[in-house]
Amino acid sequence: MATFRQRALDEAATHTSERFYVEDRPASKYFGQNVLDLDTMRGYMSKQAYEAVLASVKYGAKLDRNVSNEIASGMKAWALEKGVTHYTHLFQPLTDSTAEKHEAFVYVKDGKAFEKFNGSALVQQEPDASSFPNGGLRNTFEARGYSAWDPSSPVFIMDGTLCIPSVFVSYTGEALDTKVPNLKSLHALSIAATKVANLFDESVAGVKVNLGIEQEYFLVDESLYAARPDLMLCNRTVIGHTSAKDQQLEDHYFGAIPSRVSSFMKDFETEAYKLGILLQTRHNEVAPNQFECAPVFCEATKAIDQNMMLMIIMQKVAEKHHLKVIFHEKPFDGVNGSGKHCNWSIMTDTGVNLLSPGKTPTKNLQFLSFYASVLRAVHKHHLLLMTSVATLSNSYRLGGGEAPPAVMSVFSGSTLYGVFKSILEMKDAKVSAASQEAIRIVNSIPDIFPDNTDRNRTSPFAFTGNRFEFRAVGSSQNVATAVSVLNSVVAESLNDFRAQVDELEAAGEDRSSAVMAIVRKFISEAQDIMFEGNGYSKEWEEEAQRRGLRAVRNVPESYEVYHEAQTVKLFGDLGVLAANEVEARFEILNETYVKKLQIEARIMGDICLNHVIPAAVRYQNVLIENVKGMKDIFGAEYADLCSSEIETLKKISTYINNISADVEALVEARKKANKIADIAERAKMYSHEVKDMMNKVRMSADNLEMLVDDEMWPLPKYRELLFF
Ligand code: ADP
Ligand code: MG
Repeated sequence: MATFRQRALDEAATHTSERFYVEDRPASKYFGQNVLDLDTMRGYMSKQAYEAVLASVKYGAKLDRNVSNEIASGMKAWALEKGVTHYTHLFQPLTDSTAEKHEAFVYVKDGKAFEKFNGSALVQQEPDASSFPNGGLRNTFEARGYSAWDPSSPVFIMDGTLCIPSVFVSYTGEALDTKVPNLKSLHALSIAATKVANLFDESVAGVKVNLGIEQEYFLVDESLYAARPDLMLCNRTVIGHTSAKDQQLEDHYFGAIPSRVSSFMKDFETEAYKLGILLQTRHNEVAPNQFECAPVFCEATKAIDQNMMLMIIMQKVAEKHHLKVIFHEKPFDGVNGSGKHCNWSIMTDTGVNLLSPGKTPTKNLQFLSFYASVLRAVHKHHLLLMTSVATLSNSYRLGGGEAPPAVMSVFSGSTLYGVFKSILEMKDAKVSAASQEAIRIVNSIPDIFPDNTDRNRTSPFAFTGNRFEFRAVGSSQNVATAVSVLNSVVAESLNDFRAQVDELEAAGEDRSSAVMAIVRKFISEAQDIMFEGNGYSKEWEEEAQRRGLRAVRNVPESYEVYHEAQTVKLFGDLGVLAANEVEARFEILNETYVKKLQIEARIMGDICLNHVIPAAVRYQNVLIENVKGMKDIFGAEYADLCSSEIETLKKISTYINNISADVEALVEARKKANKIADIAERAKMYSHEVKDMMNKVRMSADNLEMLVDDEMWPLPKYRELLFF
């Protein structure tokens, strides 16, 4: 067999299912030991410093510089006790990953060594902003960017380093990360939701978002991964014929977890527990070698930070197990891709889940107000919301007939859907709460428990009893981007909701009927976004078009939604992103799209010219030798006897020629696209011409895979990657 592939398979066969991170005690004994939470912090600093941190965490109060020295010294003491040698600001630039630069604590002054960490090192650092995506926000003459501690997320220890969760902004203060807009959107949502909650309960003073982030991923043996240049460089296979068996037997989902995988899972869970990440579920997913884990939901910022940490830990722990974790949304054609479902709910500081229907009519009226506002928000900004998850990698998954479709819709379940229908059918636009009709409807919402609502796995945005599940988010993404868009659109709707209720009340309407009237108005505005059927079906695609719902058919084209007036106004009015920050994001999205597709196209060219064609030629030579030998023995009769070999030789030649020509055309398409100065136009050209040509190349290469002697095929095949 081709030595490259054979060696990989031999090596993979030696990898066993050992455990490497075993803690000899129940998880509760070491849970959170590597996180400096508020309770632990109290023991390392004065009451005054502790209270300053508390005020900052709870109310976003600014930290005084003097206090920050004391906080830093407390953190240092805690970290040194745990054998930590370095510290770093850990931030989330616009790359969907994290960035860190470690600094040593140790310092020498007057010949004396000691550990140094002061308040300014804690509060602020200055990474070079020009080395991160910045969309032109960073002037060339001023490359500085600032990372600043975000006290709302606790510091923690990873790999012997004290990690300080931080925001990342340019010299002039513009956001260069995913955290800043998310924090701002949470703030805007809290204000807006509080105003609406106050219609029902004056004592509510703040609202927070809870997030439960489900993480899907594939596992591939490290040796096989190393023998696939495409997986190594773009986390996705750009060629590969589907395996004879993949997921059609439906035997993987919730199946018994293989022992090597289970050892890996237990090991990363142990590490996650130490960081206070409360992982709750683990299971096999639908595709072979695809798995999922999910933590218990918690407050949004923490949930997002923890998800980013989790992805890092999983990769690190996987190394020990000779595994690679693939977070890409669609690493393999023909089997399901991976998502990162975001379970999103909003809760008052008094502990009420605002998306939970209740036992009393008042509670249900409140629930309806929030639900109607979400519906109306998702409808108004449906393209923006879908575009918030539109990346090159997620585009291979969205609309593929197995994952969420590329058009937004909301699934409510039959009970609620029925309620909305009756609200819409109510005759009088101005419903009095005293009217029998309104009371009947409000009463008809029972306490819906998450477990007994019907599920719709084909919906990109589904209500699951007390929360929404945004299912279209991709597995490799930093969900902060999608979540901050969701927070923003809902905040805008809630602001409108309150303003419109106030207007009716000012005109003499009583509160309940004013609320009911606006609920009805919002539902009526948003009707078109409600869809209870099969989101993968052709009928829905057509129906969605009839309803005027815009889909993400082409990623760079959908990015144009960031230029639309209502988008710019949305972010601007709420103070989430200024117009120039939106523009920067638009540029970065297009730039990232182009760069990633460029890498994929290059690696495809490389694999085809340097792996696939040489293997095909080698096999042709074997056939040629055989045909020649047959001719020597059988004379003229050989042509009949070797007809199938000759046919194969011809087919192989055709595919080789096609590949050569198409790879050349692919290079030309790239060159042509690269000449386009405007990044958005370049991205569009890439999304059409480069992508089309890649599909053509792939078809020929995958056909060759079926013709060439298995022994000679150089790259690990799908059955090996997916079933080993
Ligand atoms: P499924 O795969 O059936 O959707 P999982 O158990 O995998 O369910 O994930 C559900 C996620 O939703 C978990 O992270 C859970 O903690 C989270 N969740 C449950 N209730 C809420 C809520 N009120 N708000 C936000 N997330 C929630
Ligand atoms: Mg799930």
